[in-house]
Amino acid sequence: MICKKCIYDDHIPYISFDSKGICNYCHQHDQLETEYPTGDKGREILERIVEQIKRDGRDKPYDVVVGISGGCDSSYMLYLSKNLGLRPLAAHFDNTWNSQIAVENMHNILKKTNVDLFTHAVDNIEFCDIFKSFLKASVPDIDTPSDIGLATTHYLAAAKYGIKYIFEGHSFRTEGISPHGWFYMDAKYIETIQKQFGSHPLKTFPNLWITKWLKWAIVDGIKKIRPLYYLDYDKEQTKALLSREMEWQWYGGHHMENRTAYFTNNYYLPRKFNIDLRYSEYSALIRSGKLSRDEALTRIKEPKTFDIDILEEIKKRLCLSQEEFDGIMSLPPKTYRNYKTYKQTFENMRWFFWIMYRLDLVPKSFYMKYTRKYDDI
Ligand SMILES: [Zn+2]
Repeated sequence: MICKKCIYDDHIPYISFDSKGICNYCHQHDQLETEYPTGDKGREILERIVEQIKRDGRDKPYDVVVGISGGCDSSYMLYLSKNLGLRPLAAHFDNTWNSQIAVENMHNILKKTNVDLFTHAVDNIEFCDIFKSFLKASVPDIDTPSDIGLATTHYLAAAKYGIKYIFEGHSFRTEGISPHGWFYMDAKYIETIQKQFGSHPLKTFPNLWITKWLKWAIVDGIKKIRPLYYLDYDKEQTKALLSREMEWQWYGGHHMENRTAYFTNNYYLPRKFNIDLRYSEYSALIRSGKLSRDEALTRIKEPKTFDIDILEEIKKRLCLSQEEFDGIMSLPPKTYRNYKTYKQTFENMRWFFWIMYRLDLVPKSFYMKYTRKYDDI
């Protein structure tokens, strides 16, 4: 069965359909649409947020932390924050696998906007070891260390300068929110997997321990804002704008600014877990009227291209022989449920995270995905 509105079908976990054949993820999208309006109403809300940020930033060197990766969404965040009259501090987590284009993009945009950069580079050997541990754990979440690393880096930058706000470049309208059960991330998960499979202790990796996280969110009151939720964001127009004004280059696909992300999304996930991120991206674009369902159904049939040189580099840097790599790819798939994580804690503290979400201290998607018992859905 396939949703009558988007292209989600039975292979999407925890999918259900109403009497009209519309899936629960389309309804979830509609709820977010109501909660985060665009147009004049959205602009008004964003302006109010920006005024508050400016007030809170008085007497401080910066108003807001903007995470950058060299990708389209985050580059636009930096551009937008300057245009809104804010004084951003850019923050970057260097997992040592940036593509050359991403590095050039970051360099150009920082120069053009005259914005300072806070960066956290993890030790190259340590990060490779963590990445390898996740591969050996046979879970889909091999990008979790990069995602957690960047979240911590944003908090570190904010805490260092007393900044109260972090801008995130996520848009549920263009990127979508991944289905329940596709991915999971938390600090405990990383610690467990590294202890079990790794050969290096976590030293330079910035893990988001729950105590640190709650301190930054509750004691320091650092809020996470997603400005794109309030804007009519058109990715193609944005790419053109960034190329024209920021000497920014398109690198050929979503999440391809980083080589581990590229390997994960174009090789590892589709081949081992039957997870194709184009499903969530295309479905999000259909729901927000930016792509026709027919076009999406045609495009999804096209095979994903993959640059084999990246695979060779991954094997080389992780010191994996072809045999070892094949062994990893054929291990029975596991999930975070096979390992110790904070999930149970998040579920037990559901009421608390609801308050956190209402205060903008955690994104709504975190509350929706992490504090809910999956079996209840
Ligand atoms: Zn749907």
